[in-house]
Amino acid sequence: MTAATTDAATEAAELFKALAHPTRVAILEVLRHGEECVCHMEAVLGKRQAYISQQLMILRAAGIVLDRRDGLNMFYRVVRPEVFAVLDAARGLASEPGSGTIPLRPADCPCPNCHPATR
Ligand SMILES: [Zn+2]
Repeated sequence: MTAATTDAATEAAELFKALAHPTRVAILEVLRHGEECVCHMEAVLGKRQAYISQQLMILRAAGIVLDRRDGLNMFYRVVRPEVFAVLDAARGLASEPGSGTIPLRPADCPCPNCHPATR
């Protein structure tokens, strides 16, 4: 194997490693429609903020998402939309159909995207 193939293989493996977690897959599904803040992911996924931030760090280190601070809120967006093709392909391979769609705008979410009037 040449060095170039090894690098490409390593890069692909690192990407799969970053995606290989149910919460990180769920986070990316939330971000599929655009930038969202951590508090939104907290409301939609029902996980603690510290836990979500930890998963976001891994996605950021892999170069899949970027963060942006706006006041007290941290927003994240996907900068490598190619990952959605990978996720869609993985869902096609899964024996179980997906667990349904994640609500785009849950009524109880306090984030500025869900409640623009409260800003
Ligand atoms: Zn929200």
